[in-house]
Amino acid sequence: MDAYHDDLAPASILVSAGRQPRLPGAGLNAPLELSSTYIADGPVDYARTGNPTWTAFEEALGALEGGSALAFASGMAAIAAALSLAREGAVIVAPTHAYSGTGLLLESLEKAGRVILRRVDISDTAAVVAALGGADVLWAESPTNPMLEVADLPRIFEAAHTVGAVALCDNTFATPLVQQPLSMGADVVVHSVTKYLAGHSDVVLGATVTAETDEGSRLHEALAQHRMLHGAIAGPMETWLALRGMRTMHLRVERSSANAAELAARLQAHPAIERLRYPGFGSIIAIEVHGGPKAAETVAAQVRLWTHATSLGGVESLIERRRRHPAEPATVPENLLRLSVGVEDIDDLWRDLANALTHLVPDA
Ligand code: PLP
Repeated sequence: MDAYHDDLAPASILVSAGRQPRLPGAGLNAPLELSSTYIADGPVDYARTGNPTWTAFEEALGALEGGSALAFASGMAAIAAALSLAREGAVIVAPTHAYSGTGLLLESLEKAGRVILRRVDISDTAAVVAALGGADVLWAESPTNPMLEVADLPRIFEAAHTVGAVALCDNTFATPLVQQPLSMGADVVVHSVTKYLAGHSDVVLGATVTAETDEGSRLHEALAQHRMLHGAIAGPMETWLALRGMRTMHLRVERSSANAAELAARLQAHPAIERLRYPGFGSIIAIEVHGGPKAAETVAAQVRLWTHATSLGGVESLIERRRRHPAEPATVPENLLRLSVGVEDIDDLWRDLANALTHLVPDA
């Protein structure tokens, strides 16, 4: 990549990284390359090993996270690749409330006798450090999905390295605009690019990013080989769309974070809310409503500008009762609604949500 990008702020990286070389007549945007095979003796021979559209996306995400990126078919494909770094019999420390897909994958590896799993409250630093005794892998997610617990990442990565464990971090919720885990000591960052990076709820894509160190290069090679041998490859169209979405991520996240902060302040005092979870940054809020799961379902059914749907990180505001999913741990409250705040007008968002909440407390 052009060394010029080293000095740029995230907003400038998002706009300028992964562009075409500045040659007269060249297009500004990386081409969408739809080829399964290539003429012999070039840098790429077959599309399971590389693709120029991936390269452009990987340059941009790598510059943003401060490492070397690889595009994967989905966030889960990236997570599976990162977990494949764990040796047979590895001890893995992971958050009780990691994303439910990650939790299910970890449990299936444990059930198959391939790893030993220790689940901890990732915001309880002392508990994480204690659980790391004899561990091989630390899986971090902060804030967690959907409980929004926040970890002391530099401290737990340091503790992981002290015992010789590899530190892996899902940075989907925070985005590299809020935190760059590699600069805090993580060995591998994973993303569900599907969410904030792509940002328009129109693609499924994932990525890993490794540090630019000797150990990071070794991990990068292992992940690239996993991608190639397991066929966990990104579609060029999805990758192209994700890079186009990334160009405006800073604007989207700025607006959705401002909307979330304002909504959190207004919801705090609302009589229908039993408990509000908001880490003080980002665009996700979780609310527990009075009246149990039925009341939560009522709110999700009554909104009209918000959409009752799973997922997060797009321009549109989504609301969902997470325990609808059997995979969500029983420690996630039945009445918890996860709100992915989008970039709509704040007063319209509030009016619609407040109206749905009046079905629980008519006098509010
Ligand atoms: N990580 C987190 C934090 C997520 O929320 C999700 C999906 O919701 C994933 C990973 C999985 O990503 P994907 O759906 O792109 O496979």
